[in-house]
Amino acid sequence: MVLNRFAPSLKSTVFPPRNLFNKLPRKSVHVSKKKVSLSGGQNGVWTVSVIILSIGTWVGRVGPRPADGELALLTSPRERLETVRQVLSEVPLIDGHNDLPWNIRNFLHNQLAEFDFDRDLRQVAPWSKSAWSQTDLVRLRQGMVGGQFWAAYVPCESQHLNAVQLTLEQVDLIKRLIEKYSQFMQFAASSREILEAHGRGRIASLIGVEGGHSLGSSLAVLRTLYQLGVRYLTLTHTCNTPWAKSSSVEDDDEDGGGLTKFGETVVKEMNRLGMLVDLSHTSRATMRDALRVSKAPLIFSHSSAFAICNSSRNVPDDILKQLADNGGLVMVTFYNYFVKCGPQASVSDVAEHIYYIRNLIGVDHIGVGGDFDGINKTPRGLEDVSKYPELFAELLRSGKWNVLDLKKVAGLNLLRVLKQVRVY
Ligand SMILES: [Zn+2]
Repeated sequence: MVLNRFAPSLKSTVFPPRNLFNKLPRKSVHVSKKKVSLSGGQNGVWTVSVIILSIGTWVGRVGPRPADGELALLTSPRERLETVRQVLSEVPLIDGHNDLPWNIRNFLHNQLAEFDFDRDLRQVAPWSKSAWSQTDLVRLRQGMVGGQFWAAYVPCESQHLNAVQLTLEQVDLIKRLIEKYSQFMQFAASSREILEAHGRGRIASLIGVEGGHSLGSSLAVLRTLYQLGVRYLTLTHTCNTPWAKSSSVEDDDEDGGGLTKFGETVVKEMNRLGMLVDLSHTSRATMRDALRVSKAPLIFSHSSAFAICNSSRNVPDDILKQLADNGGLVMVTFYNYFVKCGPQASVSDVAEHIYYIRNLIGVDHIGVGGDFDGINKTPRGLEDVSKYPELFAELLRSGKWNVLDLKKVAGLNLLRVLKQVRVY
């Protein structure tokens, strides 16, 4: 989420329809397999077609695959995309941040009965008319997204008012969305559960809370959010909290403080619980304080490299180096204004951020956090959630990336961090 772009919808959904859960359509687990209704004479043709297709698939699976060192030889875009698709079938592509839940609140007041996530939303109003909509199940599957942190975001305007309640409502919304589309999505709160969902062909769906104001300065709320399955908290959004400074408010270190003593306690409690500390949106002072205090790896769920685009939403070199020492992860984000510091960007510009971070701190500390549905300017070639494979194909095009590198950026690094955060 980049801006408070909407008139904040701060009213809570106090009176949802009763038994909403029971009313949700439940589809067969096997709906994705098309039923083929065959009439008499076509049977033979279909059988032959199925055999040919099966052989094709089999050859694709077991046929020769380039060894790591040979990837530079993959000169055609089609070959690169095939390699990427193979990689993403083996390792879940896990994106760090998607703001669809806020759009559902904004457009539909969280009434999921009116939401057709399994349709191409480019054809469905009001999504089709919004520059902020880039996500639906059709395109997530095209993009081979294997895991997604769904953002339980509520606006800073709700701080000290009903932020906690609104956050709970967004967590509830995400869980109901997963339930409604359980043939495509599966709730996950650990690396094991992500892999399990991916193995079943479902999008592992995790929850992150975007903004410390959602805690109401209460450790009890933090613990309760963890119990509900929230696995990261972004320490600030665009407002300071009473205990942490935001990059939107406090852009430099002039007056010192990032985290207060209570802010440090929040980080320690997150370590104890096993919840990831997310530093996207925070001030540099907050980043440094959190890096000093945290025993567990930290993440930036949707930020890029400050050295390439000097937005305060991006991560400066000295922090990136500390992040590597910490074992953490920066999940490179796609918003044009953070990629190129302007309205235009392309998929190769996003790759430049990844190359830069890799050269500085290594491939073990990079992921992706597109911020889709929270942005209105997307890079050319990376317009929506269907396009992730294009980014990985672009990395291969450089000739310097092997299969293991791709796997790390796609998901292995996040899986590692999620494991490590649980042991403190
Ligand atoms: Zn954001």
